[in-house]
Amino acid sequence: MKKDILSLLPQELETELAALGEPKYRAKQVFRWLSRGVRDFEEMTDLPKALRQKLDGHFRLYRPSVLTKQVSRLDGTIKYLWQLADGSAVETVVMSYNHGNTVCISSQVGCRQGCAFCASTLGGLVRSLDASEMLDEVLFSQLDSGKPISNIVLMGIGEPLDNFDNVLRFLRLVNHPEGLNIGMRHISLSTCGLTERFDELAEQGLQLTLSVSLHAPDDETRSMLMPANRGRGVEQLMAACRRYYEKTGRRISFEYAMIDGVNDTERHARLLAKRAAETGAHVNLIPLNHVEERRFQPSTQGHMRQFIRILEEEGVNVTVRRKLGGDIDASCGQLRHRMRKAAE
Ligand code: SAH
Repeated sequence: MKKDILSLLPQELETELAALGEPKYRAKQVFRWLSRGVRDFEEMTDLPKALRQKLDGHFRLYRPSVLTKQVSRLDGTIKYLWQLADGSAVETVVMSYNHGNTVCISSQVGCRQGCAFCASTLGGLVRSLDASEMLDEVLFSQLDSGKPISNIVLMGIGEPLDNFDNVLRFLRLVNHPEGLNIGMRHISLSTCGLTERFDELAEQGLQLTLSVSLHAPDDETRSMLMPANRGRGVEQLMAACRRYYEKTGRRISFEYAMIDGVNDTERHARLLAKRAAETGAHVNLIPLNHVEERRFQPSTQGHMRQFIRILEEEGVNVTVRRKLGGDIDASCGQLRHRMRKAAE
C-alpha cells in the first residue's frame, strides 16, 4: 500500500524524502504543490522527472470529486457532497460572513454518537477521515468556490474527538505557514463531550475554540438526547470544561439547539445560566433543524425569546446562530443521509 503523502507534515516529508535519497528542500517544494491542490506528481514541474516518478511509486494521491454542489439562493451558502477514494461521501459547507468565509467540515463518514435529533448519526459510523481528506475538504472548497477561506469549523458530520489523532494532524496541516496557514484562533472544534479527551486536547497548546454541544444542562434531558452523556454526566463535563479553560485560557462555547418542550423551559434556562457561569462559557443558541426521521420540533419564537431573556437576566453571554443555507439543507448530515436513503 502506497503512503498517503498528503497527511504528512513537512518535517515528516523531509524524512520520507531523505530515505529516498532526496535533499531536504524538495520536501518544501512538494508540500507547496500539494497545498495548492496539485494531485498529480507530473504537474510538479520544478521537480526532476525521475523524482516525480519516484514519488508516484511511493505515495498515493487522490483528488475528491464533487458529487453534488448546491448554492443557496438566499445567502450564497455553498454545500458540497464530496466523493472520496473508497466511494464514501462527506459534506462540506462554505458560508460567507462579514468577517470572511467559513468552511464547515466533516471529520468522519457517519457518526456513532447517536444524538437523538441529529441526521449524521442515522446510519452509524462508516469510518474516520484521514487528515488528508479533511485538508482536501478545505482546499477544494476554496478552489472550487473561489472564496478564500479564513475560518474553519469542525461541525460537519462526525465526532472530531472520536478521530483525535487525524484531527490533530489536520489542524497542524492547515495551520502550517507553508500550507493554507489558517490561524488556530480561526478554528473551532465541536464535540458532543468526550471528556476523556479534553485534557489531552488542552495539552496540545493550540489556540483553537472548543465548542461543546451541550443541548441540555441536566443529566435527565441530556442523557435522553445524547447517549454520550450516559456514563459521563453533566458534572464531569463541566469539570472538564473548567480544566480546559484554566489550562488554555480559551473560553468554551456551549452549543444549544432549542427543542420544543424538551430543553427550552425556564428551569432549563436557569440551570444553563448556572452551567455557563461555572465554566465561563459563552452560549450559542441554535434553532433546531427538523429532521424527518426525528420526532423533535424547533422551539417557538416566543419560547426562544423568553429563554434568551432569562439567560441575559442571569448575565450569560448569549448569541443566536444565524440560519444560513435554509433552502439547501445546509445543516450537515442531511444531504449525505438523503443520498444514502435514495441509494437503498
Ligand atoms: N459531533 C460533534 C460535531 C457535530 S457539530 C458535536 O456533537 O458537536 C454539529 C452541531 O450541530 C452539534 O452541535 C450538533 O449537536 C448540532 N446538531 C445536530 N443536529 C442538529 C439539528 N437537527 N438541529 C440543530 N443542531 C443540530
